Amino acid sequence: MSKLPDIINLVKKSVQELKPYHVENISCRVKLDAMESPYPLSEYLMKKVIEGIGRIKINRYPDPQASRLKSIISSQTGISADSIIIGNGSDELIQMILTVFGEEGDKVLFPAPTFSMYGIIAKSLSLKTEVILLGEDWELPLDKFLHEIERIKPKVIFISYPNNPTGNCFDKKSILKILQKAKGIVVIDEAYNDFSKKTFLSYLKEFKNLIILRTLSKIGMAGLRVGYLMADKEICRELNKVRLPYNSNSVSQEIASIILKNRAEIQKQIEDIMLERDRLTERLKEIKGIKPYPSETNFILFKLVVSESNLTVRNGKDMFLRLANSGILVRNFGSDSYLKDCLRVTVGTHEENNEFLDVIQKSMV
Ligand code: PMP
Repeated sequence: MSKLPDIINLVKKSVQELKPYHVENISCRVKLDAMESPYPLSEYLMKKVIEGIGRIKINRYPDPQASRLKSIISSQTGISADSIIIGNGSDELIQMILTVFGEEGDKVLFPAPTFSMYGIIAKSLSLKTEVILLGEDWELPLDKFLHEIERIKPKVIFISYPNNPTGNCFDKKSILKILQKAKGIVVIDEAYNDFSKKTFLSYLKEFKNLIILRTLSKIGMAGLRVGYLMADKEICRELNKVRLPYNSNSVSQEIASIILKNRAEIQKQIEDIMLERDRLTERLKEIKGIKPYPSETNFILFKLVVSESNLTVRNGKDMFLRLANSGILVRNFGSDSYLKDCLRVTVGTHEENNEFLDVIQKSMV
């Protein structure tokens, strides 16, 4: 009898050591864990989308250049279409960037805590990750960051602006200093730009090593998997060498084009989410034992600062379970020591937010 190969030993070392991206598999009534928009499409947009789907020839491959979608993004951002790449979510673009610029053993630098896929993808490609811990209120320690750039000469730097999961935008001047100092690629991930309204787009001409990432996931299109990046044409030319030919499918291209062409329809939802975010923050501030951090996104990170005498809810995990038992799912960072007793809640509808606040309030008396 032939001996079966030991699969684990066939897996490359850098992947053996990884843990898969954690998505909580808990069924819930109120889903506030993944920065999705709580709003479905309006009736008007839904009609347009259904008409659009009817026009797609699914027996044919999609447009490999995603030309129509790129031209809409180009007209809305002022960036030329040959400086734009569409990804199957911005996750795929992170992978593309690291595939093109990361030679085995190269260093990738980012702050911590931040979006976990920078580290997971870097490690899967046998790159070395280095992190700089954020300060008390999640500010970027510039001197340490600049020192680390000098010391390790990172091939790629990732800065989430605003930062997930802390919700804040780092100081703009500090980021400019990083751009001036870095010799490698600097990725500014503006996944939450629709909520922060802050961007480094105007610096693309000045810094040829700058890549700006965006996504449609946070503004009502998470299911489509559409992200895009904007960078110098030369960078785009190199990235296109590794981009799989049909990475963006016809359905996503069509629906995203229709929705972006009717941006005013979703803009109102974005404004509502921002109002709700500010209301939620204020209400959380009023609850003893809860410290919400200021947010320029569609989510809020908050910390439990509980005295020993509170026996029902002593830590983040207890609160997470309380919420889950009421059918409300938020993000728990579990064993992540930088985020001890912190939970992240995505802004939902007015009613969902009230339900969430109600459970928090009742748990803290
Ligand atoms: N960047 C940041 C900072 C994010 O928070 C996320 C989603 N959590 C992404 C990128 C990935 O977004 P997408 O859905 O486009 O892959």
